[in-house]
Amino acid sequence: MSFWSKYKITVARTIFRQQDSIQNLSYYRNQLFFYILLYGLAFSPIAIIPGIIASYRTGYYNLVILNILTFIVLLILGFAKPIKIKARKLILVSFLFGVAWTLLYQLKLEGPGLIYLFSVTIVSCLIHSGKLAYLSILINAIIFTFIGLNIEFKWFHLPLTENHQMITWFGIVVNLIFLSIIIVACFDVIFKKLEKNIIQQRTLNETINNDNLKMAETQKVLRDKNEELNQFAHTIAHDLKEPLRSMQTFAHLTISRYQESIPEKGQEFLSHIQTSSERMAILLDSLLEYAQLGKGKRISVFSVKDIVQELEKDLNQLITENQAKIIYNSLPKIKGYEIEFKQLLQNLIANAIKFKKDDEDITVKIKANEKADLWEFLITDNGIGIESKHKEKIFTIFHRLHRNKFPGTGLGLANCKKIVEIHGGNIWVDSIPEKGSTFYFTISKNLETTKNE
Ligand code: ADP
Repeated sequence: MSFWSKYKITVARTIFRQQDSIQNLSYYRNQLFFYILLYGLAFSPIAIIPGIIASYRTGYYNLVILNILTFIVLLILGFAKPIKIKARKLILVSFLFGVAWTLLYQLKLEGPGLIYLFSVTIVSCLIHSGKLAYLSILINAIIFTFIGLNIEFKWFHLPLTENHQMITWFGIVVNLIFLSIIIVACFDVIFKKLEKNIIQQRTLNETINNDNLKMAETQKVLRDKNEELNQFAHTIAHDLKEPLRSMQTFAHLTISRYQESIPEKGQEFLSHIQTSSERMAILLDSLLEYAQLGKGKRISVFSVKDIVQELEKDLNQLITENQAKIIYNSLPKIKGYEIEFKQLLQNLIANAIKFKKDDEDITVKIKANEKADLWEFLITDNGIGIESKHKEKIFTIFHRLHRNKFPGTGLGLANCKKIVEIHGGNIWVDSIPEKGSTFYFTISKNLETTKNE
């Protein structure tokens, strides 16, 4: 650690006994005081040199003593421990006030005394308060008036005013007082506004923090509820499969053993039982699949283009039967859950082909757009389209349109929604009935790294 850093830390530890809140005006005032002291202490020895020269030239040796005294006072303020920061500030301001008056007395109006007095007023306003600055202006005004009257009434001899008339004296000092009042008043207004802003910001931050906490809690409740629902769906689907299997077996046994003795209508009813139970088995399997979705998912980087090419092979039969065309250009490599992502694309492509118009060949276009922190994918078809009143409902579980015309379970898009959500994204559709649909979904680029759940 450099010497300067060590010095800075030591002074800071001496001055700031307790931690100041950053959202507080006094924090900034204290910081300003700290830096004035830090640099003042470091550079005040340099002022001793001009002090010595000036003393030698003018014969005022007390200027050197004053410089040395200033250095000692700064040393005490920077390193003496048991002094409160407010007291340190008062000592500094009072001492500088004394220095200014000594300079004024010794070097007269031509010296730096007046500028010094003005600076002390500003410093006191910045590091302490407007009140202290007004007090120093008042003391200055009283002393100036007293000296001014002394010129006229000659109570005692003052070298400071030797060449001045009362009127010129007041002309000079009134300017200083006037300027000090204006500057202090302006600073005071700015500080009050700053304080108000800081308080408002603090309240706002507190509200935001509270809201964030509440949101995190709500998200947790939602996650738990979702998990509970998944568990519930899984249990129901699992438990219902057993009685369903017995139903199917007994229906099958009844038909094969007693076919001759069952009247035709009875056989028809039994065959209905068989098809319905087969359908129910499919639904239960889909529900199980839905509940399991995302369990044991693994994050990896994969090529979407490769996945589409694999899907073209997997869906070959559906594609050729419907003479569907799949069109895509450049598709990116992304980070995500590959198995689930493939299922998502498969559902959307299969749906695009399935919900085609009778009289038109189907074309499915796949596109990807890169955004700042996500990937947006578009799957566009020229199929039957979806009425806008169904645009949201189709993503809910078991929601199907055109039940009699197209086969399905009503779980495909619910699966898609769940997969997109585990990828930190959204899914939605834009569609014009009889013209076609575009399914959009997004995938976050900032998924957590390899985490098996
Ligand atoms: P399923 O395909 O098993 O019916 P989905 O959840 O995949 O169930 O779809 C829900 C409903 O959304 C479908 O029944 C269908 O009416 C509609 N749909 C889905 N994809 C398309 C599409 N590409 N074009 C027109 N309608 C669609």
